[in-house]
Amino acid sequence: MRYVSTRGSAPDLSFEQVLLAGLARDGGLYMPETWPKFSKAEIRAMHGLPYSDVAQQVMRPYVAGAISDGDFKAMIDAAYQSFGHPAVVPLKQLDANLFLAELFHGPTLAFKDCALQLVGRLFDHVLAKRGQRVTIVGATSGDTGSAAIEACRDREAIEVFIFHPKGRVSDVQRRQMTTVHSPNIHNIALEGTFDDCQDMVKALFADEALRDRYNLSAVNSINWARIMAQIVYYFTTALSLGAPDRKLAFAVPTGNFGNVFAAYAAHRMGLPIEKLIIGSNANDILARFMDTGRMEMAPVTATLSPSMDIQISSNFERLLFEHYKRDGKAVAKAMETFRRERAVDFGKARWQAMRKLFEGHRLGDNGTKEVISAIHKMTGELIDPHTAIGIEAAGRALLEGGLAPETAIIAMATAHPAKFPAAVEAATGIYPALPPRLADLLSRPETCANLPNDIARVKTFLDERLAARQAA
Ligand SMILES: *Cc1c(COP(=O)(O)O)cnc(C)c1O
Repeated sequence: MRYVSTRGSAPDLSFEQVLLAGLARDGGLYMPETWPKFSKAEIRAMHGLPYSDVAQQVMRPYVAGAISDGDFKAMIDAAYQSFGHPAVVPLKQLDANLFLAELFHGPTLAFKDCALQLVGRLFDHVLAKRGQRVTIVGATSGDTGSAAIEACRDREAIEVFIFHPKGRVSDVQRRQMTTVHSPNIHNIALEGTFDDCQDMVKALFADEALRDRYNLSAVNSINWARIMAQIVYYFTTALSLGAPDRKLAFAVPTGNFGNVFAAYAAHRMGLPIEKLIIGSNANDILARFMDTGRMEMAPVTATLSPSMDIQISSNFERLLFEHYKRDGKAVAKAMETFRRERAVDFGKARWQAMRKLFEGHRLGDNGTKEVISAIHKMTGELIDPHTAIGIEAAGRALLEGGLAPETAIIAMATAHPAKFPAAVEAATGIYPALPPRLADLLSRPETCANLPNDIARVKTFLDERLAARQAA
């Protein structure tokens, strides 16, 4: 498989190159040159297979030519053995036609593990084959940092530096990062905000000599390999409910549009899907777009669902690329307008075409707590604030009648309730417990460097740590 940029002027790349490159050189995102397709008979033939077998079938066309079947299967098996449930992504029934796909059984309790556990292994494999090493640098407000650290711990060819804003992430989130004591993992508590952390990472990338010396890389959600790995659970959960012979819709709490774009990819690969229902918090740019046809930036608001506190949903550009009939120059122009005017219109025909498959709903913090409480009263289940937003969106989609009443809706549970205990306790009075394998998290020793928001000090820190690693 070859990959093309959504902005049409960066070179086409192989899977290996796309994995290591992340963003395209023209500022675009990489997309597969064509969508692999499964017939209904081929999808039926996957019924009853274990997660890892479906994973291999669904992803094989994307890595074809880069990774052998045997190596790929070994990486998939190892990645999903790290999950705390034998089904990897189990389904729970909440109501007659409402199901919850629990994406949080990985090591750090959020759905990011579903992709990053595999992506860490893919990086290691490809780097070893090429005899290369990389230094991953990233800023985190919580979930991504811990998932990246767990995915890369103890890997030979990768060093990881993760910056979090000192004192501004929750205890559980910080400890999921700082209690990992692998020699290739370097945690930094930066004196500043999340934006300062992100600016620090950008400043490191902007230093070309440093970037080349340490082969800096990133594992953020614009990396195609992350989307690829997320397509799998749309297939496995749909298969469990009788796909391709049952009407199905998915409800997805959305920030960067990565997870719901993976659902779109599953649809393009032949999985029948009636609707993709987007859930937004107060940062509702996507829900407003689906209602009005106009995409308009607004300031970011802090909410109870912080992993969705995003104004620019980077992966939306991948959907635009499809709706502009893969005309990269036209996408580049639309994105340029959006950046310059902070608002853009993609034309009525495109908007209406998107609305055939997508719809969006918004839920504020009070509503989020009400949903957590209502689901607990109705089913006894504790859900996290992100998941609550998806469930509410599913409920509204049913009420508003755009779906046949027999349609089964699968709502994506993107985080374990224990990851956001304060909100869950405020809504239900119950403090959600960590799963047994993490029960001692709050008493494990931590390692973390404290650094001022000062680029010179940070660069010295990188030099010292990487020199020490080379000497070891
Ligand atoms: C990252 C994240 C999201 C948003 O996912 P996108 O792919 O950015 O849309 C939702 N919920 C949780 C818990 C997350 O960690």
